[in-house]
Amino acid sequence: MAKLIFRYGAMDASKTANALMVRFNYYERGMHAVVLKPGMENRDGDNIIKSRIGLSAECESVESFLEERTPDFKDADEIDCIIIDEAQFLSVAQVDQFAWIVDNLNIPVICYGLRTDFLGKAFPGSARLLELADNLEEVPTICWCGHKARFQARVCNGKMVTEGEQVALGGNDMYVSLCRKHFMNGEIGPAFLK
Ligand SMILES: [Zn+2]
Repeated sequence: MAKLIFRYGAMDASKTANALMVRFNYYERGMHAVVLKPGMENRDGDNIIKSRIGLSAECESVESFLEERTPDFKDADEIDCIIIDEAQFLSVAQVDQFAWIVDNLNIPVICYGLRTDFLGKAFPGSARLLELADNLEEVPTICWCGHKARFQARVCNGKMVTEGEQVALGGNDMYVSLCRKHFMNGEIGPAFLK
């Protein structure tokens, strides 16, 4: 039985590097893993996913993958695994479609993404994955205090931002991974104290 897996973590938790390692493990065994990302996420260009440590791979957009194959999925036999990066940007309907693929085509789907946005609220795609996934696995990273970071603050000019759009690609904002205490208290760490 194939599974729908959601591997979630804060930013900088090496989720993309982990996704690329899984892809490599499939290729090494002569199997075919498809790498997808939601089309709206194009920080690194349209057809590539890139990790901070330098690994990268070609990918397809989720939208074109689903559009080309549904409803009949003729080439389902040629796909051994589907890996989705930046899965927080999936729509609820897309998560449902991938659950259908797992259950009816017996293809495992492994999703990597953030659980929550910079306000600490679940992304709609992540909430749906939390509801539907067979396995939930945390990809850990740490706060400046050394505790596990489960949140990311949006920081602009050295200050934590507490309002704005859920998705702000580009611009001068940056993100800092924090434990719950330091996220809730708005303490982004000594690196920002000047
Ligand atoms: Zn902390």
